[in-house]
Amino acid sequence: MKLANRVDQVKPSVTLAISAKAKAMKAEGIDVCSFSAGEPDFDTPAHIKAAAQKALDEGKTKYGPAAGEPKLREVIAHKLKRDLNLDYKSENVIVTNGGKHSLFNLMMALIEPGDEVIIPAPYWVSYPEMVTIAGGTPVIVTTDASTGYKITAEQLRQSITPKTKLFVLNSPSNPTGMVYSPGEIEALAKVIVEADILVVSDEIYEKLLYDGAKHISIGSLGTEIFSRTIISNGFAKGYSMTGWRLGYLAGPVDLIKATSNIQSHSTSNVCTFAQYGAIAALEGSQDCVEEMRQAFAKRREVMFARINSIPGLSCEKPDGAFYLFPSISETGLKSLEFCSKLLEEYQVASIPGTAFGADNNIRFSYATDMTTIEKGMDRLEKFVRLAVSS
Ligand SMILES: *Cc1c(COP(=O)(O)O)cnc(C)c1O
Repeated sequence: MKLANRVDQVKPSVTLAISAKAKAMKAEGIDVCSFSAGEPDFDTPAHIKAAAQKALDEGKTKYGPAAGEPKLREVIAHKLKRDLNLDYKSENVIVTNGGKHSLFNLMMALIEPGDEVIIPAPYWVSYPEMVTIAGGTPVIVTTDASTGYKITAEQLRQSITPKTKLFVLNSPSNPTGMVYSPGEIEALAKVIVEADILVVSDEIYEKLLYDGAKHISIGSLGTEIFSRTIISNGFAKGYSMTGWRLGYLAGPVDLIKATSNIQSHSTSNVCTFAQYGAIAALEGSQDCVEEMRQAFAKRREVMFARINSIPGLSCEKPDGAFYLFPSISETGLKSLEFCSKLLEEYQVASIPGTAFGADNNIRFSYATDMTTIEKGMDRLEKFVRLAVSS
């Protein structure tokens, strides 16, 4: 069969082989410690599930408006004002099938052949692929531990060409967990305004912050940057709702209308009764978010201390999300080899940094219980000690 050319341009996920292997080992009854999860390990809070159940019982089971239930769009606009001081109305918001779908819709509405999109590495796996599917050119800017894996304003400035359309900002970051400081965000905003490009701010981890770190939304820094900002967010990470498939995009009305048009011909509206769960998530008590955050905070301390005590690994202390991203360069192994051996010989699953454009690092998720963390870190330590000494 002759498939469309665009299929050849999308890379198969390098993480797939590892996760398939880990699953197969588990199925065989092998005791695998898994740190590969990209999702919270908690159940969705009860009041959110109850709201969706109620909507289901009330017959909210039909097609709805493609851009989302009017009430949910309104509640999201209100949240963006309340939490982040962003002036949006319902018409500036589209409800999507997850944060991933928000970004995909955005690329389809905005990017065309010839357009360049600046993506700092380490990056979330899907950003470059989405740009490619839309026919654009991802421009990868490599960052390292010296800047906390964050792109500097100067690096951004130097990467901009007349073809640059969009810059992708992700803070807190997946895979590094790093959070941009207010000063760093301000410096990036200045470059964006001066060059008159757009920025999409992926804020899916905005609620998962530690050690007093604050989340600043780049669009809140003034009218000039606000008009060039698009916000992408979702319910998956903060409310432990990954399987619900609920996200949103906020931005200028013409863009939101365009994404809504695209959505109306692809997925139509997000599952109607699920949207009532999202309303409850935003309108209800935020204590559930804080409880999960505190559990993550404890695990982060334990895992960070353990990883950094292992000779051969070095790790920055990230202030957000639920990942640690240690460097493995002293082990002499590349990330895929490191992860494969760690899984095969020590039954520990992690994600090779090469998936995120960083071959000298490994991503460990601490969205798992403390017992697994202790056991998995013991095994990791044995593995690295042997790898370094041999
Ligand atoms: C998880 C994640 C998303 C979106 O997840 P959805 O499940 O589609 O809402 C977006 N960006 C980053 C960086 C993520 O880690």
